[in-house]
Amino acid sequence: MIPFSPPRIDKKIVDEVVDTLYSGWITTGPKTKKFEKNLTRYAGHPCTLCVSSASAGLELMLRWFGVTKGDEVIVPAYTYAATANVVEHCGAKVIFVDSGNDFNISVKAIEKAVTPHTKVIIPVDIAGYPCDYDEINDLVRRSDIQKQFIPATPEQSQLGRILVLSDAAHSIGGRYNGKRTGNLTDVTIYSFHAVKNLTTAEGGAVCLNLPAPFDNDKLYNQLNIKSLHGQTKDALAKMQVGSWRYDIIEPGYKYNMTDIQASIGLVELERYDDDMLVRRKHIFDSYTREFRKYSWARVPEYSNDRKTSSFHVYLLRINGIGETLRDTIIQKIFEKEVSVNVHFIPLPMMTWYKQSGYRMEDYPVAYENFSGEISLPVYYDLTDEQIRTVVQAVVDSVQSTL
Ligand SMILES: *Cc1c(COP(=O)(O)O)cnc(C)c1O
Repeated sequence: MIPFSPPRIDKKIVDEVVDTLYSGWITTGPKTKKFEKNLTRYAGHPCTLCVSSASAGLELMLRWFGVTKGDEVIVPAYTYAATANVVEHCGAKVIFVDSGNDFNISVKAIEKAVTPHTKVIIPVDIAGYPCDYDEINDLVRRSDIQKQFIPATPEQSQLGRILVLSDAAHSIGGRYNGKRTGNLTDVTIYSFHAVKNLTTAEGGAVCLNLPAPFDNDKLYNQLNIKSLHGQTKDALAKMQVGSWRYDIIEPGYKYNMTDIQASIGLVELERYDDDMLVRRKHIFDSYTREFRKYSWARVPEYSNDRKTSSFHVYLLRINGIGETLRDTIIQKIFEKEVSVNVHFIPLPMMTWYKQSGYRMEDYPVAYENFSGEISLPVYYDLTDEQIRTVVQAVVDSVQSTL
């Protein structure tokens, strides 16, 4: 069976993890701090805080900005549940909006959804392809939009407009106008979950890039405390001679990354651009070259004059089919020993959100994108021969169904 996206685990990773295990320091410590510095250097934003997951990072930033009951947060209907669930945790209202043909959030739809209650927009770089950030950043700064913003916390007053909190769970290494994700909006969140491009088993990072007068380094210190129970010293700092005493300045969260996780990330990041991304691009290019030959295939856009993907998942669409035929095709592909997937079932179709009153009919492009979509395997160890097997399995399954 060809798996969908196994992690790349080799001797280098194992050695680095073992080194951490024997070092006597396994929770947040020197390796996490080093990983943060390397991520900052990699993407070019001012400052990075590593956390236990992207979900934790998203929620931490919504809490920091003071998002609460009565507020609205704009989220694409087409994303993984984490993007919207964290808004629910804060007691705020999720405002789903429709997508464009490239699967990403539609800026036109965002504009229509903005109200005086809007506090945050969470664009998601689906499959690693950056959203239209110039347009989104311009929109939140437009005077008519900025005028209707009602700040309710010191952070909201200081920003004076809607916060753009980018969900880059898929898109580390993706580029927009030559800059990497992480460095494109106020705050960007990476995920290092096991199936993501760059993994630490579980983990995430908060990339801070807030405009002046915010001080991103100062904010890092604040968030570091907020992500560790509001404790003024982390475990490593408390270990220093005479430094045992600490204070709790707020009821914070437990969202820190461990050095075991960071040790995997350090190895992954070092070889990410020259090795991981090169291989992923090769797989994307190979799929596109093959599927372009068939009129039923709609290949995804993954670069244009402004953007380059991080090649996270390959979102193939089959023209003119609905959910039922798509599901039949997927069944046939699995029977040929190839794992595929669907990214994503739009959230208004999920029980919780359906019960909350969202209707899928309100997001026709997201539905259209979903109903004919099949995600193909993309991972470092996928060989050229396996790529050919995947292509053949898809072609045979589609052609025997249509
Ligand atoms: C995986 C994923 C997340 C959540 O990442 P975790 O690190 O597992 O919390 C958030 N958003 C999207 C779009 C994802 O695919």
